[in-house]
Amino acid sequence: MPDSIALHSNPADTLHRRGLMFILSSPSGAGKTTIARMLLDSDPEIAMSVSVTTRHPRPGEQDGVDYHFVDQQTFERMVEESEFYEWATVFGHSYGTPKAQIRGGLKEGRDFLFDIDWQGTQQLYQKAQTDVARVFILPPSLVELNRRLTNRATDSGEVIAARMARAQAEISHWDGYDYVVINDDVDVCFEKVREILAAERMKRARQTGLIGFVRELMRGQIA
Ligand code: 5GP
Repeated sequence: MPDSIALHSNPADTLHRRGLMFILSSPSGAGKTTIARMLLDSDPEIAMSVSVTTRHPRPGEQDGVDYHFVDQQTFERMVEESEFYEWATVFGHSYGTPKAQIRGGLKEGRDFLFDIDWQGTQQLYQKAQTDVARVFILPPSLVELNRRLTNRATDSGEVIAARMARAQAEISHWDGYDYVVINDDVDVCFEKVREILAAERMKRARQTGLIGFVRELMRGQIA
């Protein structure tokens, strides 16, 4: 053990911390996927949570990257053995958030990003409250949301109308979140989301390396 610990950077950047489960939700078209991608591209300490599914891989999808692809029997065994934080059946296939990789990652100080709806958020929060930070992204107006959905040339008018109805239902759950950001300008919104993540990382309970640091600080052993 050295007599003094020399610190060249902000000590908070090098102390061990517990990771967190960062949830981003929004109605379709409010910009959640763009913000999620910007966050993943700019921050090596956060990774997307990889779900388990029984559906078959689509062309280009990789096992362990896009999903963990398993058969129905394996999925059912995982349900029985409580290996999921939450799981659901969507369009006839099963999907679940596996506990093991996340628990290990959180201990090592890695953060996980979840791109999930309000129901998934509620379930995750019930199972892992202190590890979760919930962010909801709102569109600036319904007119703007409609414009953004219409600009996705791939969808028909009917699909857009259905998405608008779903979006309004999703918006009504805004009060189940810790933070709400209005996405008027994507760069401004991204900065706000980054600030939220930075603040959540600084929470005392997550800075597990603080005890040792403060002990050394009090002994005057930090130069
Ligand atoms: P896809 O098969 O198109 O990748 O996903 C279909 C749906 O399953 C999407 O709405 C997606 O959000 C949902 N989904 C993906 N992973 C999970 C998961 O781990 N849990 C739940 N509840 N839904 C998921």
